[in-house]
Amino acid sequence: MAATLIDGKAFAAKVRGQVAEHVARLKEQNGITPGLAVVLVGEDPASQVYVRSKGKQTVEVGMNSYEHKLEADTSEADLLALIDQLNNDPSVHGILVQLPLPKHLDEDLVINSIAPEKDVDGFHISNVGLLGTGQKSMVPCTPLGCLMMLRDHHGSLSGMDAVVIGRSNIVGKPMAQLLLGDSCTVTIAHSRTKDLPDVVRRADIVVAAVGRPEMVPGDWIKEGATVIDVGINRIERDGKNVLVGDVDFASAAERAGAITPVPGGVGPMTIACLLANTVTACCRANNLAEPEGLTA
Ligand code: NDP
Repeated sequence: MAATLIDGKAFAAKVRGQVAEHVARLKEQNGITPGLAVVLVGEDPASQVYVRSKGKQTVEVGMNSYEHKLEADTSEADLLALIDQLNNDPSVHGILVQLPLPKHLDEDLVINSIAPEKDVDGFHISNVGLLGTGQKSMVPCTPLGCLMMLRDHHGSLSGMDAVVIGRSNIVGKPMAQLLLGDSCTVTIAHSRTKDLPDVVRRADIVVAAVGRPEMVPGDWIKEGATVIDVGINRIERDGKNVLVGDVDFASAAERAGAITPVPGGVGPMTIACLLANTVTACCRANNLAEPEGLTA
């Protein structure tokens, strides 16, 4: 393997350490404990694992964790009433509604009912608009984690050619906005993109957020490029259930300058950035200085 491995697990531990330090300072100097409320509707097993992990890490960095588990058949009115209560609770600085929601609930309506300043997932339409216009916002956690790793590896990203494969609202689009904000020349590729291999071969930075196992082979990667693999795909290999990314790691690592592995790359950064966003939201709510390096 020629590429430098970008160790998301180690980086996430560093971010959590910075968050914990800031939380300790907020407690000592201001008597404030940041609080994150996570709302889970229904019993989707993957969502339950994520919510448990979020709650555990929230407590580990010294913040208060409030978990609200609602029945799968909870009405929209009841869910909106809970969000309204959390919006008005001064001990709650961040609110996250775990997606996906059961089909009878309108996700857009629910997300847009969260107070934008407490929207630590960064999915509220106001935060999307603020990010798009280069203003201070809550930034979606996964793209924020990718940006932090890219900045850490390169320093300045200015003038680099970046390709984001995928145009979802939670990863692809905000990732492209963040790279543009750091003065990359950005191409957003998707399922209708013509000659994707050629588009990817021109990029100094490749962010793959597609959801197709090992779709990007090494010979699409420009020599020395940085590859950020957001994909999380579970496949059967040699009779085992394994996690792989959207990039064929082995062949891409032969050509890339740096690459994130799956698992252990972008994944751990997502929850670390959720904690970072919560401490940022807490500081903003109390007109206090924000922690440096934990926001876009
Ligand atoms: P979506 O399914 O919402 O979006 C996938 C995107 O990939 C779409 O824009 C789609 O294009 C594009 N796409 C699909 N097929 C192709 C193709 N053959 N060529 C080019 N583009 C294609 O996925 P998400 O953005 O939510 O997630 C992407 C991946 O990232 C998933 O594996 C997911 O599990 C993972 N993920 C990981 C996170 C983490 O913490 N590490 C967090 C969030 C997601 P089109 O719009 O044209 O359909």
